[in-house]
Amino acid sequence: MTKNLIIAVLAILVAIFGLNALVSHREHADHTVAKEHDHSGEHAHKAPHSGCLNEIGSCETGHVEVLVTDGRIEIFLLAGGHEISRSVRVPEKAIILRSWAEDGSVRKIELEPEPLELGGEKIGDCSHFAGSANWLKSSAPFEAYGWLMFRGAVRPIVVHYPKGYAPSHRHEHEDDQH
Ligand SMILES: [Zn+2]
Repeated sequence: MTKNLIIAVLAILVAIFGLNALVSHREHADHTVAKEHDHSGEHAHKAPHSGCLNEIGSCETGHVEVLVTDGRIEIFLLAGGHEISRSVRVPEKAIILRSWAEDGSVRKIELEPEPLELGGEKIGDCSHFAGSANWLKSSAPFEAYGWLMFRGAVRPIVVHYPKGYAPSHRHEHEDDQH
């Protein structure tokens, strides 16, 4: 009973933030059409750490690069568009991602800040987070969802691993070499 309720609430949350992502993408698209056209030729950006790139709402806003190795997930927060190699620091002390298993149960991953010391980062001003979960050892594809204070706004995170999440463009980040 309680479990069903939790699943229902989570389903509603996903519906809401899915919608938000759509709306903010549309707003964003209106403002950036001209700009995107300017550098459309150089849009084939690569993941700086050879991970899976997921847009944060849109390509111009920023990206979450995800790496999964032996049950450990690592994320790098990156700037948008052609500035993708630049890291973006956030104040979060933890990032929670949730993913649905095939049986409908919710799997939670808590990522903790791991400051990039060479970049002068510290907890509370950090672009790199990591966490572990047993189910990540299976290396099966997964989708995960969360929230993040990123560049001045709370934004939904959507991770599609390993394909990447790119709602705002047809460009395929890593593979698109034109
Ligand atoms: Zn992009």
